[in-house]
Amino acid sequence: MTPSTPVSALTIAGSDSGGGAGIQADLKAFAAHRVHGLSAIAALTAQNTRGVIAVHVPPLEFLQAQLDACFEDFDIHAVKLGMLANADVIHLVADVLETHRPPQVVLDPVMVATSGARLLEASALRALRERLLPLATLLTPNTPEAELLLGRRIGNAAEAEDAAAALLGLGAGAVLLKGGHLDEGPRVIDRYFDGVTGEEFSHARLPVDAHGTGCTLAAAIAAQLCRGLSLPNACGAAIDYVARGLRNGYQPGRGEVMVLDHF
Ligand code: PLP
Repeated sequence: MTPSTPVSALTIAGSDSGGGAGIQADLKAFAAHRVHGLSAIAALTAQNTRGVIAVHVPPLEFLQAQLDACFEDFDIHAVKLGMLANADVIHLVADVLETHRPPQVVLDPVMVATSGARLLEASALRALRERLLPLATLLTPNTPEAELLLGRRIGNAAEAEDAAAALLGLGAGAVLLKGGHLDEGPRVIDRYFDGVTGEEFSHARLPVDAHGTGCTLAAAIAAQLCRGLSLPNACGAAIDYVARGLRNGYQPGRGEVMVLDHF
């Protein structure tokens, strides 16, 4: 590597043909942070601003080949995990992470798209909980995902605080529980907890129907970790990045949905 060579981050996630979420959002976020972006496509979606039309999961051998190609050649500082589609994919990804042990693993436990489309088979929840959570440096669920992981409802601030601690108990190194789905007034509170440090990130709720915010947030955190920020500082910087991207967001298609501006 030359002194100016950026470090590498790898996203293992789903492709969004509409360019707003998934792998496409992740690579834009990596590039905007001047981190070299690698990708292993775990699922392909035929998708636009109106919704998900079809999903294709490539053969496992092909995902393995993509991961081997990346881990053989690059110094991967951070891995971001997004849409993994089913339990077989999760087991393969967990095996690869156990072999290579990248320093940072940011797990966005993608389950259902904002449009309502299922992005993870219901039967894969257990594999996600048992195989991937213990490998995650940071878990970034939204409230519905946290509810599914914990099997209980989260309806207010006290329950969200308890949930962040309970999620940590499932094995992740730290948790950023996103508060966008909770009604806590005009502001959104995202809660960070690593067992020692607890931090609340409060930001204005923007009245927009946006797509790809969760993917972008997790990718921006991974990128900030590549740049040497601590976990809570990486979360804070990435939350600001998403807010900026939303303020400058645009509607690229005929649907109402906005995507983030990354640059
Ligand atoms: N499509 C893919 C491939 C994704 O990875 C995600 C991310 O979580 C989504 C769609 C959902 O994005 P959103 O819920 O922001 O519409």
